[in-house]
Amino acid sequence: MKEPTRHERQLRCFRKRRYRSQGDALDAALVAGVERQRRAYLCPDCRMWHLTSVEAGPRGRGLSRMRAP
Ligand SMILES: [Zn+2]
Repeated sequence: MKEPTRHERQLRCFRKRRYRSQGDALDAALVAGVERQRRAYLCPDCRMWHLTSVEAGPRGRGLSRMRAP
């Protein structure tokens, strides 16, 4: 798999919602009811926080299919 270029990362970053803090990001995931499927990470490009999907564990398989965005 090809590493994303900086430009591709910035594009992805641009399309994502940004949060001022990890708490804000996690709060947003909590409100949406997807805190188990999201992880907050500090973006090296914009220095803000984003949420990213995490692979569901064996017990969480199929969870993401239950909730359409
Ligand atoms: Zn970013």
